[in-house]
Amino acid sequence: MEIFIITLIIFILYLCITIFNENQKNKLYKLAYIDAITNLGNYYFFCKEGEKLIKHGTYIIILDINKFKTFNRKYGYEIGDKILKNVGQKVKKILNMNDMVCRFSNDVFGLLINHVQDIEKLIENIQDSLKNIKIEEKTYNVYSTIGIYKVSNDNISIKESIDKALIAHDNIKFNYNKNYNIYNEKMEKRLLEEHEIESKMEKALNNNEFIVYYQPKIPLKDNINIEAEALIRWSDDGKIIKPNTFIPVFEKNGFIKKIDIYVYEEVCKLLKELKKYYKKLPIISINVSKENFYVENFISEYVRIANKYEINTNNIELEITESVALDETIDISYVIGKIKEKGFRISIDDFGTGYSSFNMLLDMKIDTIKIDKKFIDCIKKEENNLVNYIIYMAKDLNLKTVAEGVENKMQIDYLKDIGCDIVQGYYYSKPLPKDELKKYIDKFLKNY
Ligand code: C2E
Ligand code: CA
Ligand code: CA
Repeated sequence: MEIFIITLIIFILYLCITIFNENQKNKLYKLAYIDAITNLGNYYFFCKEGEKLIKHGTYIIILDINKFKTFNRKYGYEIGDKILKNVGQKVKKILNMNDMVCRFSNDVFGLLINHVQDIEKLIENIQDSLKNIKIEEKTYNVYSTIGIYKVSNDNISIKESIDKALIAHDNIKFNYNKNYNIYNEKMEKRLLEEHEIESKMEKALNNNEFIVYYQPKIPLKDNINIEAEALIRWSDDGKIIKPNTFIPVFEKNGFIKKIDIYVYEEVCKLLKELKKYYKKLPIISINVSKENFYVENFISEYVRIANKYEINTNNIELEITESVALDETIDISYVIGKIKEKGFRISIDDFGTGYSSFNMLLDMKIDTIKIDKKFIDCIKKEENNLVNYIIYMAKDLNLKTVAEGVENKMQIDYLKDIGCDIVQGYYYSKPLPKDELKKYIDKFLKNY
């Protein structure tokens, strides 16, 4: 009997220890692999299980919630957490039982999909379903951006596949009706180039590798002066790189604000130098990226620099693009009002490529519109071209007109006929280094 009781006690003890160990193991497992907020797997779980599921044709997907911080700030963390949980549940419901959704970090989810016919349709379904998430009678509109990688290589690891989905995600061009992007190899190449540019940009600025060129703008009427536009170049190891390769990268990473100020200061220096030669200074225009508009009072820095070089702000025209007007977070009329108060001129660049209307221009106290090259390219002799209407309406609003990218005499004759004020383009001159600009102005004034 005694032996029986002792055996029983030992058995019970063993059982307790085993259960305790199992519980501990479960707890540890949960800590390591399960996300406490959504109850989904986490990044490590995704990698561990994903390695077993991944095969040729698998889709690895990154889903990123837009502006999630705003939800937290506006409604509190409790609601924020509930939104995350709902997102997880909604996605899980749409996926096949054998596919997987995990939460990687704050507002980023990872999906692994093997069972799907039409991936784009599925993605659109997911994005639509998140647009109305109900929590305690209130509806929250959750917008997301999605990067997709379709496994095309049998030897690729799950982690490498996630990286490729991230690359696709990083390359999304914001668009009203398509907020997802499917990976291709070009993206990777572009990303590598972007990294290369980013690794060199600060040093390049300190080493004065950025050079400002100036493209003359020629008046078609007697009472207007010659002007010029400042256009940046990068002299990298003696090779001149045009801005289309690096400006978009700088716009993405914010470095553009430094570059714009740098170009602006170079222009002020040039104007100060030109004061020695000319009684009437040319107006120089400078491109101002949209990113500057997010900086509070950015214009006071511009004024400070103009004062430093004793330049009248009236000699400077700031070129902004129509996209500034599209951003609802910027009170564009107010900012433009401030810029005008300080004496700068303002022009709308690439006019006609965006969404601005003449009405909007009327509200915004603009001085000039620069008609985009695409309208100039399609000018046909003796026809009623679209540019004709643009200039007609601009005149009605008292706006100065500049035609961009003028390349032949026929275009110039036509533009002169319909009353365009100024032309800029290779027909007259390419962008020039500053010493050549001075020569160009001298020659122009002599012939005038
Ligand atoms: P943008 O402001 O529209 O500048 C006009 C572009 O058209 C310039 O290209 C100019 O060289 C080019 N162009 C002028 N005339 C002709 C022509 O007759 N034919 C052709 N095919 N092209 C012509 P660029 O210098 O390569 O600049 C490209 C863009 O980069 C600019 O477009 C502007 O958006 C941006 N950018 C240039 N410099 C700066 C800068 O300092 N700051 C900012 N934020 N952006 C800049
Ligand atoms: Ca421009
Ligand atoms: Ca332009």
